[in-house]
Amino acid sequence: MMGPSHALSGAAVWLTGSWALDQFADYHQTPLALAVGTAVCAGGALFPDLDLSGKVTRNQGGATVARTFGVFSLFVAEVMEKISLGVYYATKLSKDPRRNNGHRTLTHTIPFTVLVGWGTTALCAHYGKWAVVGILFFMIGLALRGLFDEWAERAGWVVVTLVSAAAAWFTFANLPGDRGYPMIGLAMGVGCFVHILGDMITRAGVPILWPIPIRRRMWTMVGLPNKIALRTGSKAETVVLRAALTVLAVLAAVGLVAPSVLQRFDIQV
Ligand SMILES: [Zn+2]
Repeated sequence: MMGPSHALSGAAVWLTGSWALDQFADYHQTPLALAVGTAVCAGGALFPDLDLSGKVTRNQGGATVARTFGVFSLFVAEVMEKISLGVYYATKLSKDPRRNNGHRTLTHTIPFTVLVGWGTTALCAHYGKWAVVGILFFMIGLALRGLFDEWAERAGWVVVTLVSAAAAWFTFANLPGDRGYPMIGLAMGVGCFVHILGDMITRAGVPILWPIPIRRRMWTMVGLPNKIALRTGSKAETVVLRAALTVLAVLAAVGLVAPSVLQRFDIQV
């Protein structure tokens, strides 16, 4: 799947989940908490692809998300890719093929998803506001890059960086600490998981079973069979899937926000 579809799926899943919690578990969130969770989940849904590195020294290549903050995020991607490849070789069994890059390995596993969610929560709990501002800045940047890719492309990474910084600061100044912080970790974890599911419906598949060894393979790639798998960049993805995700996200958002708006104007339904 391409970046925008990943980001959109993260946003749609977070909004739908929030709507379900609101309806059935009586768990209500402020509009700002909702917006933060949605942005972090959309950004988190791009995060695993920060393992697609380019040539940092020549400022070339890399996934679109790796270019969010210019050469800085390209460098992060390079490091992530090398660590992933290291883990691949450290845990590979005799039937696992040789690889020369770490894309779609470590960052596309369940343990990584859990680690990211837990790590984010721990960072926020331990370092408080500065960790929150940093994480929000990073995730809002990824979300902008993913959700508004054409704008981000035209604006360039410097503008994306400035907008992310402003949004992170505004959010931080207005978000209550108690309930807002744990949600950030959860949104990150959910986002990464949604990314893995998104890649599973494409041909290449992901090593979702890692680290369970199967027939002398630790990195079994799991995905839909070629016949029904989604082709990356096809009309089914860029039109049908994205339209469906957008409708879902909008419906959930309306369902979440409408009751309080109606209440404010004293309208009974
Ligand atoms: Zn991926």
